Amino acid sequence: MDVVVVGAGFAGLTAARELTRLGHDVVVVEGRDRVGGRSYTGAVAGVPVDLGATFVGPTQDAVLALAAELDCATVPTYGRGKNLIRWRGRVRTYRSTIPRLSVLELVDVSRIQWRFERVCRKVPVARPWTSPIADRLDSTSLDDWLRSVHAGASTRDLMAIVARVTWGAEPDAVSMLHAVRYVQAAGGLGRMLDVKGGAQQDRFLSGTQEIATRMTEQLGDRVVLNAPVRAIRRHTDGTLTVVSDGGLFGARAVVVAVPPEHRAAIEFDPPLPDEYLELARHWPQGHLSKAYAAYDTPFWRDGGCSGEALSDEGPVFITFDVSPSDAGLGILLGFTDARTFDPLPPEQRREVALAGFTTLFGDAASRPIDYLDHCWGAERFAPGGPTAAVPPGSWTSYGPWLHAPVDAIFWAGTETADTWTGFLDGAVRSGLRAAGEADHELARRS
Ligand SMILES: Cc1cc2nc3c(=O)[nH]c(=O)nc-3n(C[C@H](O)[C@H](O)[C@H](O)COP(=O)(O)OP(=O)(O)OC[C@H]3O[C@@H](n4cnc5c(N)ncnc54)[C@H](O)[C@@H]3O)c2cc1C
Repeated sequence: MDVVVVGAGFAGLTAARELTRLGHDVVVVEGRDRVGGRSYTGAVAGVPVDLGATFVGPTQDAVLALAAELDCATVPTYGRGKNLIRWRGRVRTYRSTIPRLSVLELVDVSRIQWRFERVCRKVPVARPWTSPIADRLDSTSLDDWLRSVHAGASTRDLMAIVARVTWGAEPDAVSMLHAVRYVQAAGGLGRMLDVKGGAQQDRFLSGTQEIATRMTEQLGDRVVLNAPVRAIRRHTDGTLTVVSDGGLFGARAVVVAVPPEHRAAIEFDPPLPDEYLELARHWPQGHLSKAYAAYDTPFWRDGGCSGEALSDEGPVFITFDVSPSDAGLGILLGFTDARTFDPLPPEQRREVALAGFTTLFGDAASRPIDYLDHCWGAERFAPGGPTAAVPPGSWTSYGPWLHAPVDAIFWAGTETADTWTGFLDGAVRSGLRAAGEADHELARRS
């Protein structure tokens, strides 16, 4: 092979497709029995639902272009009617992204948003460790920063919800430098959090995994499943051998398209420089879970509700209406807090998720015709997601090595992207970047 790609998520498949287009022989070696990685589409009451990545929005041009090329159509996220917020024991309605809190609380939210975005402007996304305030930001967590600017309790609780759904972690686990870099890579807090005009604006009716499946169809038998990569050996003649449960693959270059944490499960021989090994140990994946309930109709729409809700009490803390159409089945998606949700047995998970839906949308929510959930932190192979929850100290200590090539080993994966990092779009962009680097190296050598 010219190039072996490790991992058949959006990053790896995009890299393989691009390298194939450039005329290289490629094989993609995937540890799971399916493609898509953190894009994984299941079904509830026969309707496709995304257990991992769901939404796309404006400026996510790389994934939107890929989807269009593969004929995977989007639909707008349902947003007509009132949103709900369960806050301090009461359920209230609101419209737009910022929920209805007291005037003082709303002023505080705006103040903190303004201050956060001012910090963002001081951090270069591609090289955050070079910011004059990098050391200061990376020595504190998002929670430390919120306290240092005297954010009120409601603002801190709202930011905790943002952290949970964005990184699958609490604000005290995430470096402030990581938080501002991540938000800036998404184009700001509004762009990242909004439905209309933001990252939740649209979704794929057939699910996001369809995009990965279609890329795989194009790649054909170049994609090998059930083949966890155990080792990557670099030889003195510049070639490499990728050792997997599915066999050995010789290559002139390798693209490793797995989250930084999962690089640690691969033995590199000779070993990578220490910074790379430490990076893998200090770039942990967060944990986020999802629950879906299907009903005969989207009954909440009759009551003028959009199906969108926020809750300061778990485990269901954000919901969306992902029903297939106006007529027919109603489907609620709930993001659930992995800390309290994942340890429960399946029957109890269903119970607490439905209780969460019922508190928000009324009694009818307790009687679904089908239910499904997925706990990413409990996956047996390559667990975690939605993305890395990078703790204080990691970016300034190891950031420069996040995707710097080692000989002919190149690094992809959404965590390595500078635009929409953490999202499908970032994964696609990282795959294109790594493919370009590998192509350049192969051309240089020949
Ligand atoms: C619950 C949840 C909700 C999300 N919501 C959204 C959303 O709405 N919109 C959005 O844009 N993004 C969302 N995301 C994030 C999105 O899913 C990821 O950014 C994207 O899928 C990452 O793609 P990737 O190719 O970089 O990594 P992955 O998808 O993780 O792919 C890596 C692949 O490598 C494989 N692998 C790992 N180790 C090895 C090994 N040793 N050998 C062989 N194979 C290996 C894994 O099995 C996996 O298939 C969400 C994620 C989750 C979990």
